[in-house]
Amino acid sequence: MEKSNVTDYFATNVFNDEVMKNALPKEVYRSLKKTVEEGAPLDGSIASAVANAMKDWAVGKGATHYTHWFQPLTNLTAEKHDSFLEPCGGKAIMRFTGKELIVGEPDASSFPSDGMRKTCAARGYTAWDPTSFAFVKEGTLCIPTVFVSYTGETLDKKAPLLKSMAALDKAARRLLKLFGIDCKKVETTVGPEQEYFLIDEEVFFRRKDLVLTGRTLVGAAPPRGQEMDDHYFGALKTRISAYMRDLDETLWAYGVCAKSEHNEVAPAQHELAPVFTTANIASDANQLTMELMKKTARKHHLVCLLHEKPFNGVNGSGKHNNWSLTTDTGVNLLDPGDSPEKDARFMLLLACILAAVDKYQGILRASVASAGNDCRLGADEAPPAIVSVYLGDQLGAIVDSIVLGREYVPKKAVPGSIGVPSSPIFPIDATDRNRTSPFAFTGNKFEFRMVGSSASVADANIVLNTIAADAFSDAADALTGAENFEDACKNYTYALLKRHYRIVFNYNGYGPDWEEEAKNRGLLNLKTTADAVPEFFRRENIEVFTRQGVFTEKELVARADIALEYYAKAVKIEARTLVSMMRQEVCPAVANYIAALCTAVAAKRAVSDKIACRCDVSLAEKLSSMQEELSSAVDALEAELSGKEEKLAAAQKAARTVIPRMAAVRELCDGLERLCPSDVWPFPSYTDILYSVK
Ligand code: ADP
Ligand code: MG
Repeated sequence: MEKSNVTDYFATNVFNDEVMKNALPKEVYRSLKKTVEEGAPLDGSIASAVANAMKDWAVGKGATHYTHWFQPLTNLTAEKHDSFLEPCGGKAIMRFTGKELIVGEPDASSFPSDGMRKTCAARGYTAWDPTSFAFVKEGTLCIPTVFVSYTGETLDKKAPLLKSMAALDKAARRLLKLFGIDCKKVETTVGPEQEYFLIDEEVFFRRKDLVLTGRTLVGAAPPRGQEMDDHYFGALKTRISAYMRDLDETLWAYGVCAKSEHNEVAPAQHELAPVFTTANIASDANQLTMELMKKTARKHHLVCLLHEKPFNGVNGSGKHNNWSLTTDTGVNLLDPGDSPEKDARFMLLLACILAAVDKYQGILRASVASAGNDCRLGADEAPPAIVSVYLGDQLGAIVDSIVLGREYVPKKAVPGSIGVPSSPIFPIDATDRNRTSPFAFTGNKFEFRMVGSSASVADANIVLNTIAADAFSDAADALTGAENFEDACKNYTYALLKRHYRIVFNYNGYGPDWEEEAKNRGLLNLKTTADAVPEFFRRENIEVFTRQGVFTEKELVARADIALEYYAKAVKIEARTLVSMMRQEVCPAVANYIAALCTAVAAKRAVSDKIACRCDVSLAEKLSSMQEELSSAVDALEAELSGKEEKLAAAQKAARTVIPRMAAVRELCDGLERLCPSDVWPFPSYTDILYSVK
């Protein structure tokens, strides 16, 4: 296809509103639209007509199969393809019924359910989510669906996300009504900025750790890392820009509005930002984006690494989750306008969000916990594992004035110039940026920066929506029927800000004093998944989900158990990979090198080259003793891998014993790498990998 005009092929793979309008009978279209826009229950009688139209459209796009596309409790999407074909009088016809569209029953008993589905009673259902468009991918009609058990428990990430959006909608509308605003819907909007690494496939396949775990488990620091800051926003290499172009075009055809991309801080690191949209659609789109990023990379003989910390010592990858609230009339509720201090509604919403983040900091942290993200959170470039909120100069000063009684002097966006003759005059923002905050107010949205690059954004947004909904509900309860609404609202807002002020931190979150200061403030610092996930077991945290109708206790506990189990498994796989790399690759290579040195010593002795001889002997001795230490460290690591513990105990052991032992192995191995010639080393070095794309 000639891809000269984006608007011609944008969303051509999507059964979107425009296609539906043309393809469906008027009544059917109207009924479906009502479901999508107002959340009205889907009218079962229209399903056949929709299914038929969808099938005809998909077949026209070359599809032969359909699948219910769902998001089990891994970070991936799942598909089971069924053909449209049906035998008919010795021939075959293409058929797709309403029932097949609405509900599927994949035999998917191997997906994690933590016992909510026993293998002997393993029925699970996928049910159509009409609020997210179906699309054709590689010859298959993909129908976004939720995934539930026979007994109705949710087994996926989409169902609770939709429930959390509904909870937020309900609570926000109740609150807005008190201000005389009667809107039909409040939607959560999300724009996830996706970071990733691109490396050449040739180096990738020569490293077992990259192939099996997605990150390097060993590797001495390269002579040149990111210290010159010359990669950030640097000019794109030809291969990279060809990849980005291809990826953009692919995503655009799926209606994913990829908007900007650039080089990130670390060598080989990049970022892709989409235009924000409704949380559910943003989450689906991000899942699809991650899949297509990986597939497109392979077409270019590259590998896309979505791991949060593929390389020690250089920046990790996150997914900045930009989050806001918008009414169906198009008002961004987190837009502070010109004088936020005078806007009672904005200030109340802000206070509620601060209160929610403070009260539920534990589950917000837990929502992003994973083995991969643990390598990133708390490392120097990433937000620390402590949750805090950055408000910026303007809102920070307003909140300070309320809580500390300081005078607030409004600082307006002023016209500015960069002082270069003929450069345009432009408004200078009232607020600067703070890249170190895990939860930063950035103009008219919050940016939750703790999300890991490989994670589904659903998890974080489920928590954000739920806790915000709860804070809004509390406010609505407290203010409904107030005699003097204006005063009551002001008092309530001020009280919340005072009570939860400790969560506000407008300074350097990477600074050395912050951990101590946060501790004094009583903020949590949950460094590992084993510390964070148990937050889901706390009574008050369980109750916020049950109260808002997002999870039952059973569902939540099952999810937390699965997260712990996954964490322990991921760490174990890494440890086993490390052991095998040491035993099968590093130790033999070093032993060979020592043998070669000894042979050289003998040869040099024969010609009485004493100095060279001494150097070789001392190097061989040094290597031998380090090699011995390495072997013992590998044995010590391996000794920890055989036990069978309960989920929490296994996760704690992974965090407290296995990971430190892996670090000990790594240190010794990296030391050996520094002493060995590159042709001796059994796999590509950091320099080979990070600069593999020429
Ligand atoms: P910034 O440079 O401040 O991070 P951008 O405008 O570049 O802001 O946006 C970064 C990301 O935030 C993009 O993915 C964008 O779509 C998203 N975003 C912008 N506005 C909103 C909003 N109201 N709700 C959710 N996401 C948003
Ligand atoms: Mg950003």
